[in-house]
Amino acid sequence: MAHPPDYRGRFAPSPTGPLHMGSLLAALASYLDARCAGGAWLLRMEDIDPPREMPGAADRILRSLEAHGLCWDESVLFQSTRRDAYEEALRVLEEAGRVFACCCSRATLGPGGSCLGRCKPRAGQPISLRIRLRGDTGFDDQILGLQPPVNTHSDLVLRRKDGLYAYALAVVVDDAWQGINHVVRGSDLLLQTFAQLEIFRELAATAPQYAHLPLVRDTQGTKLSKQTGARAIDDAFAVDNLRSALRLLQQDSADMPASSTGELLDLAVNNWRPRVLSALAEKSLVYP
Ligand code: GLU
Repeated sequence: MAHPPDYRGRFAPSPTGPLHMGSLLAALASYLDARCAGGAWLLRMEDIDPPREMPGAADRILRSLEAHGLCWDESVLFQSTRRDAYEEALRVLEEAGRVFACCCSRATLGPGGSCLGRCKPRAGQPISLRIRLRGDTGFDDQILGLQPPVNTHSDLVLRRKDGLYAYALAVVVDDAWQGINHVVRGSDLLLQTFAQLEIFRELAATAPQYAHLPLVRDTQGTKLSKQTGARAIDDAFAVDNLRSALRLLQQDSADMPASSTGELLDLAVNNWRPRVLSALAEKSLVYP
């Protein structure tokens, strides 16, 4: 009988700022899911957008994860070292006729930031490369349930006008290359998933199973993110931070007696119940 492939999960932060409660939640949930399955948990630094990055953030994120006892397997993959792989994947997509050039500026793009092939780039003009999406791919989310295909009527950028490769392409190439078969991440990336699945298919790579977590918002309803200036977590309070994250994730382990991050994480792994999150699907978690 064929054995199911061993679980390989990952956390893939962008070094645009330090960890906040929303990103700690994604790190912790993906860690617990992997460890509960006896699997590997990898760390990938998505450092492909230098203009948006904060100097020192990559290092700070790694130190924060360590301070919280979230230790990863294998060596950290830095996407900044992977340009050749992205170039090759883009070539495959181009050969399949899925890529088109776009010279739109922000002002001329259509709804949802799409071009839909309406612009006509002139020779020598800076262009981005976009994928033509078919909108024909759904999936079964481990938390949100069945996600029928949605036609987002858009086309995602794969390579930007400044020559930088975009998240949508890099994330697929590296999830495939690292053999990731389970992705646990925030619901802000749910719509991206439909496009990523199309890219996996075109690259003849096996897509992971996805679980999208409810988003964490503040009491004003604003999603915690680096862009909205979410407060960095303080590594000096690692056990308390883990307890807060576990409480948001509705885990019984949040209030179990433990005096170190290691002890609390062991309890959290042994008592990991991702199913309770399904009841919160589409809702947000509130963190003061
Ligand atoms: N790098 C992305 C972020 O920090 C997450 C990518 C992913 O989990 O697919 O938002």
